[in-house]
Amino acid sequence: MKAVVIQEHGGLDKLRVEEAPEPEYSEDEVVLKVHSAGLNHLDIWVRKGRAGLNLPKPHIPGSDAAGIVVAAGANVTNVAVGDEVIINPGLSCGCCEYCNRGQQSECISFGIVGLSRPGTFAELLAVPSRNVWPKPPHMSFNEAGAFVLSHLTAWRMLMTRAQLKPGQTVLIHGIGGGVALSALQLARLAGAEVIVTSSSDQKLERAGQIGADHTINYRTVEDVAQHVKDITSGRGVNIVIDTVGGDTWPIDFSAVRRGGKIVLCGVTSDAQAVTNLRALYWNQLTILGSTMGSEEDLHQMLKAVTKSKLKPVIDSAAKLENIKDATGRMETGQQFGKIIIEVCR
Ligand SMILES: [Zn+2]
Repeated sequence: MKAVVIQEHGGLDKLRVEEAPEPEYSEDEVVLKVHSAGLNHLDIWVRKGRAGLNLPKPHIPGSDAAGIVVAAGANVTNVAVGDEVIINPGLSCGCCEYCNRGQQSECISFGIVGLSRPGTFAELLAVPSRNVWPKPPHMSFNEAGAFVLSHLTAWRMLMTRAQLKPGQTVLIHGIGGGVALSALQLARLAGAEVIVTSSSDQKLERAGQIGADHTINYRTVEDVAQHVKDITSGRGVNIVIDTVGGDTWPIDFSAVRRGGKIVLCGVTSDAQAVTNLRALYWNQLTILGSTMGSEEDLHQMLKAVTKSKLKPVIDSAAKLENIKDATGRMETGQQFGKIIIEVCR
């Protein structure tokens, strides 16, 4: 089968489309023919080789996928050959104390498809059958193959961790990225007032078209936090959704209101940041870390998305052979929405 294969860590040139052996599968696993696989920032870290990452090579990256089941192990009962499906990229053991509490993304051996096992940028993908869910019927394969990781992450941040209520205000940094846009869509769906930031007026305009109530260009505005305060009658926002890290962390503490919450799910800038401890205690803030989501988070997110017929924002689609250019577009922050790799067409 054709697949994107990494033989060693490094730049875009390490993404090679090659012939790879077809995956073997156990009696609890299924094999999908992958139609569409969305790019995520995780793919960049996997390729570059984030500190502490020790991947067996060759490795196939890719964490999101939509496709059709083409083979199922003897124990599989939840899906059948021919089903149109999406995958939950989160891998959990199913038996530790966290899994027993239904907190699969806190599992002691938590892993991700495309990181802990071969990923989705391949014509065929083997995954545990519990990671396979029906494709939302209102979505195309491209839409369905691009939304789970980012929507699940945003859902857990907003709903499970920050407990967002209708009418609350949410600040989302760096609109254009996958999780940031998912958070915008889901926060609006939940009845929140949303402020977004970007360095691009074009991205801010598009964010406005899909529901952002207020937009801030952080390159042209002198003080982002003050601007947020001005918008919120001097109070600040209830919740900050941070997917950036070091560059935005100091702003978070000035932009959040007393009793507010700051939720962080990843870093696309520095992983080290100075924390304003005085603001933390005096303003009685809550800092929340969040990683992907539990099966219950996924269930609730899919229910909300299906009921409202919400679709992910798509930036562009590329053939498997063009993965380098597609990844380069994400790596340089040009995208607005999800970039899709069309694998089997
Ligand atoms: Zn576990």
